[in-house]
Amino acid sequence: MVDSERMLAEIAQAGLLISANPYSADVVVINTCGFIAPAKAEAIQTIRHAVASKHKGKIKKIIVAGCLSQRMGAELFNEVKGIDAVVGLSERDKIADIIKNTVISDQAVSYLEHICQLPPSDKTRLRITPKHWAYLRISEGCDHRCAFCTIPFIRGRFKSKPLEIILEEAKELADSGAVELNLIAQDTSYYGKDLKIKDGLSTLIKKLEKIPGVKWLRLLYLYPSGITDNLLETIAASEKVVHYFDIPLQHINNNILKNMRRPHNKEQIYKLIEKIKIFLPDAVLRTTLIVGLPGETEKEFEELLDFVKWAGFDCLGCFKYYPEAGTAAAQMTGQVPEKIKDQRTERLMLVQQQLVFDINKYRVGTELTCLLDSARKGVGIGRFYGQAPEIDSLCIIKNCTAKPGTFLTAKVIGVKDYDLILRQV
Ligand code: SF4
Repeated sequence: MVDSERMLAEIAQAGLLISANPYSADVVVINTCGFIAPAKAEAIQTIRHAVASKHKGKIKKIIVAGCLSQRMGAELFNEVKGIDAVVGLSERDKIADIIKNTVISDQAVSYLEHICQLPPSDKTRLRITPKHWAYLRISEGCDHRCAFCTIPFIRGRFKSKPLEIILEEAKELADSGAVELNLIAQDTSYYGKDLKIKDGLSTLIKKLEKIPGVKWLRLLYLYPSGITDNLLETIAASEKVVHYFDIPLQHINNNILKNMRRPHNKEQIYKLIEKIKIFLPDAVLRTTLIVGLPGETEKEFEELLDFVKWAGFDCLGCFKYYPEAGTAAAQMTGQVPEKIKDQRTERLMLVQQQLVFDINKYRVGTELTCLLDSARKGVGIGRFYGQAPEIDSLCIIKNCTAKPGTFLTAKVIGVKDYDLILRQV
């Protein structure tokens, strides 16, 4: 999304007109994801729709940018006939010129360089999130080598953005009305290691906190072994970092963790969760898990279920494992049949559903500070600190008189599936 916002700014600054309707545009730019099979399938389907419109004469040219372009390169021209340009990640800021060239060119062209060794500067964005919240990318790439993951091949090694650049971007976002900044990276806890900044994320947080206008700082994608005591102390001492821990754990069984090439073990993960809960009793925990990695038998899966029941995650995403070309896990023996992966995904999510329903009931009667995302006819949609935008549940607020983008206090009066129902007080 940040890359899309950067491209939109480049396009607008070049004097090109951005259309709200892709079918009335001369050129459609599709920014893709491509790290697992469903993401690739979704991107390909979107490209095929665009190609169908091109054949009907509704659009003239199709440009494909983003991760799938970086991953597949010129192969994409064969995968879907009708693409006019394929643009790699490091060419993102040249998008306006690429559009102009594509309009006048009769030939399909690929704009692909090697993976950029520098973090992108995301300054000047035409934001597509609501005015009051934004993503703040603090680095690019990843130095971990999880056996199932394609991201390091696509986005390269971990590259921290210099502190001054992040602060400039954060100020720019705050000046444009963002009160909530969601820090993103492939691993936010790794921030600063390549720049030799001691306790990098803590150092960054302490500087970001000083920016006037920012009220909530949210740390997404914290790698478990990167959550140090120093970081927990910084979060506890901070008035702006919300007590929301998004820790993609992937699994709990020691053999599976080893197969995944994760550096920590089950015992360390249990201790970490315990420590967070003791340190910050109001911590909201989110995780993502992968089921069906090669070698996962019923025994390992049940160990994962037991862990989920024990941890009581407020939010949890479960992915079934996809053997991605080029990854170590795709070569492993003991691949799990798709049907079993589907069943395990469903079983895990049903266990999690019951846990969330219980946690939600426990919140009834409490008062929460919510950031209002939208409001219509006295009913607001907002989030308390334990709900990240786009991925988590919501607060449905009755008797709402506040304006979107502002904070309000509301009492939880009920639940609706995963969402909370509140009344403004
Ligand atoms: S830490 Fe995340 S991005 Fe990095 S290799 Fe592992 S799964 Fe991929």
